[in-house]
Order: sequence, then C-alpha cells, then structure tokens
Amino acid sequence: MSTPAQTRERAAPAADSCAERVAAIVRPDVHALSPYRVADARGMIKLDAMESPYDLPAPARARMVAAIASAAVNRYPDGNPDVLKRVIARAFGVPAEAQMLLGNGSDELIQMLCLALARPNAVVLAPEPTFVMYRMHALFAHMRYVGVPLGEGFALAREPMLDAIARESPALVFLSYPNNPTGNLFDEAVVREIVERAPGLVVIDEAYSAFASRSMLASACAFPNMIVLRTVSKLGMAGLRLGYAVGSREWISSIDKVRQPYNVNVLTQAAACALLEDPSWIDAQSARVLHERTRLERELAAIAGCRVFQTETNFVLVRVADAARTFAHLENRGVLVKLLDGWHPMLTNMLRITVGAPSENDCLIEALREAALA
Ligand code: PMP
Repeated sequence: MSTPAQTRERAAPAADSCAERVAAIVRPDVHALSPYRVADARGMIKLDAMESPYDLPAPARARMVAAIASAAVNRYPDGNPDVLKRVIARAFGVPAEAQMLLGNGSDELIQMLCLALARPNAVVLAPEPTFVMYRMHALFAHMRYVGVPLGEGFALAREPMLDAIARESPALVFLSYPNNPTGNLFDEAVVREIVERAPGLVVIDEAYSAFASRSMLASACAFPNMIVLRTVSKLGMAGLRLGYAVGSREWISSIDKVRQPYNVNVLTQAAACALLEDPSWIDAQSARVLHERTRLERELAAIAGCRVFQTETNFVLVRVADAARTFAHLENRGVLVKLLDGWHPMLTNMLRITVGAPSENDCLIEALREAALA
C-alpha cells in the first residue's frame, strides 16, 4: 500500500508546468515548429505522397516473404550491408568507381549531410520552391538556409544562383533533379556550372529519376564536390525506408561517420535484397506510371481553368482557380492530393497530384471536372 504522500509524488506533473519547462529548455527554433503532419488517408484514394499505386507483383512478394521469414531479428543488422549495396549497384547502374551510403530513406541521408557539414555559420542553399526537408534539416542542424527563387517556368535562375553561391559560399547545395514540387528537370548545363562554381558539396537529389529523361548518376564521381541521392520510395517500396547516396570514396566515407551504426534495419535489408535481386518489375511498374502520367496530363489540361505544368516525375503539378476549394471538393469525393497553396508565392492555387492507378486517376479526373463546373 502506498501512502498518500507517495501517491502524490508519483502523480504526473501539471501540464502547465511541463509546458513551461519545455518552452524554457527546448531550442526556441525547434519549439516554434509544427510537427510534420501526414494526412489521414484511411478510405481515401491516396494521391498525395508520390507513392507507387501498384502492389508488389506476386513473384517479388514471394521472394520478399521468404527472405523475411529467415531474417535474424534477434541480431543487430549488418552494420555495413555490402550485399545490399552490391544488389542496389547492379539494379540501378551505380558506376563501378563509386561508393555508396545507405539511409533510412533519403531523408536520413539529407540529415546526415547537414550534420556532417554543419560548422558554425555554414549555409545550405537551394532553389525555391523545392523539397521542404532541405530547409528543415538545415534548421535542425543549426545551419543557415538560403533559398533562391526559381526563374521562368520553374527553371534554375542561373545568375541569381551563381550570385548567391559567390555571396554565401554554401557548405551544401541541394538540387532536386527533377524538382519536387514543381516536377521539372533542371537544365543540365546550369547544374554543371553550379557544381563547378560551388565551393561546397552539391547534392543532386534524384528521388524521381525513374520518371525523368536524364540522370547524373553516371557522373557521381566526375566532380570533386558532388554526390547523387536516390531512393526506392517512388518505385513501389516507400514502406521499406531505403535511400542511397552515391559518390567518391572520400565523400561517402566522410559522411558515413555521422551515420547511426544500424540505420537500415534487418527486415528492410532482407526485403530490399530480395526485391532488387530481379528488378525487372520496377521498370514495368514505372512504365505503367509514365503511361498514366501522359493520360493525366492530357485529361487535366482539357479541364476548364486547370493549368498543367510539364513534369518528369510521378506527379503532376496543376494550377486551378481556387486550390483550397478544389482540394476540399476532391476530399469530399474521397481523393486526397497535396494542397501547395500557401507554401510559396509561386505555388499559389497549386495542387500536386501523384499519378495513381487507372481507376484512381479516373476518379480524380471526374472529381476535378465537377470542381471546375461547381
Ligand atoms: N528527395 C525528394 C526530392 C523527395 O521528394 C523526397 C520524398 N518526398 C525525398 C527526397 C525523401 O524520400 P525518402 O525519404 O522516402 O527516401
């Protein structure tokens, strides 16, 4: 039996006093943040997160299940998973001279890059609008983030980018290639010029390379200050959380020093090895996505008031008359897309729509037509 005094001791502190402590102790810039929210998609057609709409084909799933069945979950994962690296290199054509670093999603690799390069006053530079996690990880690592607005047609603004690089001497430049959320692929000549002029490391983030006409993976070791990031998330394996960085031995072994020892878990390693052993299903699914993307671009462009932007990804950026109203209408019809309005002035009245399966795209098109008429 506990005494009343002991019971009092164990009682939770009042919420107010906790909140006071949190406000006093947590970094003010972190305290001011809102947590990353993932929309509740239960029962919805999910076209908001650039996932593949397709399930694993049966033979690939069978390989994965067999591999997981015998995975040694009582042991820590292989700390330096060379087998998985070799399988990835073969599946995606990583150049023989390159080294590789694996991450719990490419998000974790972005975090490692910031951590490793975060000297006092170090700058992270990226064109804007772009993938928001560059800014977030810069902030988490106490780096200063500099965004340079994109130019006409969301192209890299060559002069302003080169000027900002000269002015800020960024430790890290992120280029999403193709760019999320605008969907376009930057001019390769301008990218190369940025790499040549940048004093720091330039990260070419190729999360969407499977849907793009060009890649810089073959040049991953061609510059002394460039690495390429990839992920399997857009290729039907978002749930695995697996990304990889490709570059010279020097860069990769240096960034590796801030990696948590067992960052890619046993089940992910086993599943990825099995799934990528024969990666032909990935190309087949990407081809279906590309086919549907073409149809979506055509159908959406035919809807009154709907402007479709050119894309080299598995999503389509559209501008409508009133994005918030259209978003709400789609939501009512059970279709979840990403509302970009308010993120950046260039994204006013924009929606980002992930390419879904044909029947999902049919529902989306129908709901967008209704919204345009309403
Ligand atoms: N880079 C870009 C440009 C992205 O759009 C995303 C996901 N939205 C990522 C990286 C992160 O991918 P993941 O962590 O799933 O590998």
